[in-house]
Amino acid sequence: MNEQQYLRYLSYRFIKPFHRSSTPDWKCPHCENGLLSLRKDSLFYEETPDSRSLHSHPDWEPDWIDYRFTASFECNKCTGITFVCGIGNETFYPAVEAGDEDFEDIEFIPKYFEPAIPLFAIPKGCPDSIGKILKSAFSVAWADLASGCNRLRVAVEKLIFELDPSLNGTLHQKLEVLSESHREPAHLLMAIKWLGNDASHDGSLRECDLAFGFRAMESVLKDLYANERDELRDLASIVNAGRGSPART
Ligand SMILES: [Zn+2]
Repeated sequence: MNEQQYLRYLSYRFIKPFHRSSTPDWKCPHCENGLLSLRKDSLFYEETPDSRSLHSHPDWEPDWIDYRFTASFECNKCTGITFVCGIGNETFYPAVEAGDEDFEDIEFIPKYFEPAIPLFAIPKGCPDSIGKILKSAFSVAWADLASGCNRLRVAVEKLIFELDPSLNGTLHQKLEVLSESHREPAHLLMAIKWLGNDASHDGSLRECDLAFGFRAMESVLKDLYANERDELRDLASIVNAGRGSPART
């Protein structure tokens, strides 16, 4: 296990775009079971005034166009509706095989879902105080990675309190003491703590880091509340040894 393997998380995205004809595998926030698909005629988008004013520029290209959209998605199981808003861009897709044609389509990137879609399944036995904070992390993560990471760090604080309410001191000190009784969860939570520091201090947090943070929290909660183990310890070791993300520049 090395830094390169951590960096493969650079290709791991939770901020996935959708197109008029295709929706990523987004789980329904109402039943957490079904998948979402774009409701017919629900997509409205418009080019921003700043973007329109650039059309007269001599170097103008279609990929300069900047849209804003609203849309709604329906669950294929419970028929619950989820509302979404965000940004859009003209995207050029070159032909993949001989005989194919290049084409352009608008890529819509959500900034906000209402209700927030789950970025991982919170185990049934997880205390409500932690579940609530995690849902707020899911809610802000799309628009602001650092805010999502800060919410995740608050969930770490709440989880430590659930595991041992007698602990005090800084988050780092609490995790060091906690590692004596809960070694593996403390190891993963320490990695989230370092990423949270990156998010607060220099704005260098990347999407892959928050994706890793969510995976680490999912792994801890599965271990504690669903008796399922996941192997993220080696990645957490890399973050802990570097006291932050190895992907930071
Ligand atoms: Zn549903």
